[in-house]
Amino acid sequence: MLVFLLTLGNLVTAQNMGLVDNANSPYTKLQTIGLADVQWTDGFWKEQFDLETQVTLPYMWQLYHNDSITHAYLNFEIAAGLVKGKHEGPSFHDGDFYKIFEGMAAVYATTKDKKLLKEMDEAIELIGKAQRIDGYINTPVLIEERWGTLGEEELKKQLGFEKYNMGHLMTAACVHYRATGQTNFLEIAKGVTNYLYDFYKQASPELARNAICPSHYMGVIEMYRTVKDPKYLELANNLIDIRGTTADGTDDNQDRIPFRQQKTAMGHAVRANYLYAGVADLYAETGEHQLLENLESIWEDVVYRKMYITGACGALYDGVSPDGTSYDPTVVQKIHQAYGRPYQLPNATAHNETCANIGNVLWNWRMLQITGEAKYADIVELTLYNSVLSGISLDGDEFCYNNPLNVSKHLPFDQRWGSKREGYITLSNCCAPNVTRTLAEINNYAYSLGKNGLYVNLYGSNHLSTTLQNGKRIEITQSTNYPWDGNITLNIDKISNDEMSIYVRIPSWSSGGTLSVNKTTVSDQLLPGTYFEIKRKWKKGDSIELNIPMEVALMESNPLVEETRNQIAVKRGPIVYCLESDKLPENTSINQVSIDKALNFETVKTTINSREFLGLETLINFKDTTWNGILYKPKSFESKQLKVVFVPYYCWGNRSLDEMTVWLNY
Ligand SMILES: [Zn+2]
Repeated sequence: MLVFLLTLGNLVTAQNMGLVDNANSPYTKLQTIGLADVQWTDGFWKEQFDLETQVTLPYMWQLYHNDSITHAYLNFEIAAGLVKGKHEGPSFHDGDFYKIFEGMAAVYATTKDKKLLKEMDEAIELIGKAQRIDGYINTPVLIEERWGTLGEEELKKQLGFEKYNMGHLMTAACVHYRATGQTNFLEIAKGVTNYLYDFYKQASPELARNAICPSHYMGVIEMYRTVKDPKYLELANNLIDIRGTTADGTDDNQDRIPFRQQKTAMGHAVRANYLYAGVADLYAETGEHQLLENLESIWEDVVYRKMYITGACGALYDGVSPDGTSYDPTVVQKIHQAYGRPYQLPNATAHNETCANIGNVLWNWRMLQITGEAKYADIVELTLYNSVLSGISLDGDEFCYNNPLNVSKHLPFDQRWGSKREGYITLSNCCAPNVTRTLAEINNYAYSLGKNGLYVNLYGSNHLSTTLQNGKRIEITQSTNYPWDGNITLNIDKISNDEMSIYVRIPSWSSGGTLSVNKTTVSDQLLPGTYFEIKRKWKKGDSIELNIPMEVALMESNPLVEETRNQIAVKRGPIVYCLESDKLPENTSINQVSIDKALNFETVKTTINSREFLGLETLINFKDTTWNGILYKPKSFESKQLKVVFVPYYCWGNRSLDEMTVWLNY
């Protein structure tokens, strides 16, 4: 994007850049638009963005300043020497604070709310005071250093969250800089990145081993893109190179073998997806073909064999690596919160950490930018609407760590994490700040820029005002009630009269869509899972209309998924539906419900906690037999019928907390 570029030393000021600033990345087909370029104006994402600005963000900001609950801000104050005390809270507390900060910066980009700017400046000043002279920031270590209690071992903890914290600082600083034009946080981030560069120059492979949720791969490359210091690209390359070079690597950390040998998704799903997103960023800068080949192979493994219908990732709470090299049970590798074997997709015990699902968005977003292929935008959309939004309550202030596809009160064991959303998840509140920043940033995903024009990625009423790659301005008003219906209108408010293309995404789930320009049909043979290119000389007042029928689809899984064999899931457009047990007779388990092909679904306006959406009303069959704790009995073919309303999966657990299922017997 050719926006104003002011060179300040080696720092390039480019305020019009997006979350990922790939304007100068040599190996990417698409580029992001600026953070402030899209304003939601109405409908689904406007409602979610308003909830973000009015509830979620203020709630999280206050929570992370409330030291009786989170200690995150207080840790910085102690590290800065302003207050006496010990580090408290999880070791990834700093990183989670930076994620909320990033969300605040992203919101500021479109709202220009001065209060946010002031709050961010106060936090930056404090973080700066905590920073060590060599650039290092990580409050668990800084606090112990300050009080002289830091043990030798602490510095060698390469599987702690130190780099995760630093990575989120870098990303937050880049977003803050792009949103505000201020360099105060970016200067701190430069110190951190320089520190990491020097550290990895000297570190042994053992000490350099770094694998826990590696947000710093994305962070370091974003710093490279912002500051243009070639050292940072060298650092990012080294970070990928050193993976898998030590004898103690694991599949859980994706470092048992070098990344360039990895063809399948393995191990902890947050770590995995952050790694893949970071490698995609690296590819965009270096064009190393091997990296893209690995990413494409891993993507196929995830999307065709290991991902839930909701876009969620990480089937297993705990397991053993399917890829480990030994049959010796004493050396077999444990994995946790991880991808399982192909087609191993349990529902009630699905881990599906919200952060892994967000990682799936980050990764697919980068793949879309690199390739321009709509299949990646489909996964971004699927995951956002389903397994990211399920991570937050409809009221905007409670969060899920796990996102199971089935909740049964009859399971005779407790899972480690409950299925109820919480305001603060004591041990693992990582997901809440992650959802907070993600929901602040979805507008940046709505469009991309290509060599020949504009790509429309996501649908939702908004106003776009951006600069194309040819330097010309374009303004578009998008109007739609998506995802509840598939009528989308793009009105062109400003455009140059050169010939250019507008690429309209035809979702992979769609069929029978039509596209017209100024009421004249352009195509009624739209190919799902592609961008349809409309190339012409445009003028102000032109309008594009996309009509996608929103039929209810009964989905089945590959029969190799044992857990869902002979079951169906209900989907309409990008929204996966679920059934909750609140209307079922008391003795009936959600798992004794079945559904027929012949059943009709009526769309019904439904409201939960003042949030309106389309429910799907239909008849289900159910059995009200009890099992009395036995394992097998002769099958009964009797059933009764009941009218129920399916609700979007992201709405589950907001009223009753009884039972829920996405998959039903068929
Ligand atoms: Zn998380």
